[in-house]
Amino acid sequence: MDTPVSKIRSAKLELYRKKGKIHAKAVSGRFNTLRWSMVWLTQIVFYGACWLQWQVDGASRQAILFDIAHEKLYLFGLVLWPQDALLLAIALILAALGLFFVTALAGRLFCGFACPQTVYTSLFVWIESRIEGDHLARLKLDSAPPSAGKAIRKLTKHAIWLLIAAWTAISFVGYFTPIRELLPALAELAVGPWESFWLLFYGSFTYIQAGLAREAVCQHMCPYARFQGVMFDPATRNVAYDSRRGEPRQAGGDCIDCGICVEVCPTGIDIRQGLQYQCINCGLCIDACDQVMARTGKPGGLIRFASEWELSGQPGTSNRPRLAVYLALLTVFLTLGAWTLDQRSLLLVDVIRDRGALLREMPDGRIENAYTLKLMNLADHEQELSIGAEGIPNLSIVGPQRFLVPAGSIRPVQLTLAAPGGTALSGLQPIRLNITSPHAGGQQVSEKTSFALP
Ligand code: SF4
Ligand code: SF4
Repeated sequence: MDTPVSKIRSAKLELYRKKGKIHAKAVSGRFNTLRWSMVWLTQIVFYGACWLQWQVDGASRQAILFDIAHEKLYLFGLVLWPQDALLLAIALILAALGLFFVTALAGRLFCGFACPQTVYTSLFVWIESRIEGDHLARLKLDSAPPSAGKAIRKLTKHAIWLLIAAWTAISFVGYFTPIRELLPALAELAVGPWESFWLLFYGSFTYIQAGLAREAVCQHMCPYARFQGVMFDPATRNVAYDSRRGEPRQAGGDCIDCGICVEVCPTGIDIRQGLQYQCINCGLCIDACDQVMARTGKPGGLIRFASEWELSGQPGTSNRPRLAVYLALLTVFLTLGAWTLDQRSLLLVDVIRDRGALLREMPDGRIENAYTLKLMNLADHEQELSIGAEGIPNLSIVGPQRFLVPAGSIRPVQLTLAAPGGTALSGLQPIRLNITSPHAGGQQVSEKTSFALP
């Protein structure tokens, strides 16, 4: 039932939400602690991981590097090549399925705790609150007429935001260009056009998204918010208001209509109006309402993670086909990924016949054919490869048969094969080149090619 007081509160909240930029009230509690733990964790990993080094054959290189120029992805001891695109595809599918699974279980947990938009917005809003004060002080400052004090506060805030955005962009580009080379190049203003573009783009992107657009991204721009509902089932636990317990507000229900749950909401919504796509499941309204319930002597959980079944008082069932499908797909792709990784050859060879001359007849009667071999060492260590040939009696290799190929590199080598003169065979004969790496668990690659005889 709407009392005059509740009508005034509703009007006040409506006004609060229509003020333009949302200045959410700060709140403490377990979900706020979890949110900040995730901010720390994700940012320590993001800003720190690009500085890790990895020792290979006595030298060190960046441990995590997407080396686009040389078409390689370094992940500590693992070096992935374009030939490993399937593994990358599986990793992306697994990430998407993991997200779907978590969403089906507990709604938009990713949005509330791990999404970069949420994380950077939290960081930027925290800086804003240090400089401009709490949510009320910020609302007041925004509507205050221009003054030197206002300008200094705003400029300081934007300068710090820009610094963080710049460092974020440097760290981001540092995963594609070794960061220990990028920083000196930046200091000398000698970065390439590719790096310059991404530094500017990612820096501006961070500043605009986290500083200026913030909750508008979740409300109007994020496509995930629009289709998350298809992953839900009646047992999905979302942040929800227990209307059976809360209503009628101020008239017997537990909700005292204080509106604090709305004031703390970073996207400015009223969770009491039911599930809304703008809700990022951050749980801050739970923290706020639990404090109100504690003050009014009621049990917490008026707003809590609850399923549709739980809220409607239905018993529910453990039969959740959607969850089972996500779990089955996760298992299939995890197995496929593990198998692909296990079967992955660390040695690849391309054989190209010499197009210039099909064959050479030597003065002693021998027939020679020339080839170019591209020896690809996908391993994270140097390999000595030995080459053998078979398919024609007494087929031999002229010159060296062993080649050192450095870690994660391609070495082109010229190879000459010789067959004795007077053989009964003629024309193009199929042969096989066997390339073995004795120090890598006896790995062997066999490549078919042909040998031309007169
Ligand atoms: S914080 Fe709790 S008591 Fe206050 S308005 Fe929200 S739901 Fe009602
Ligand atoms: S309604 Fe609650 S959980 Fe949803 S975004 Fe707002 S504060 Fe976060």
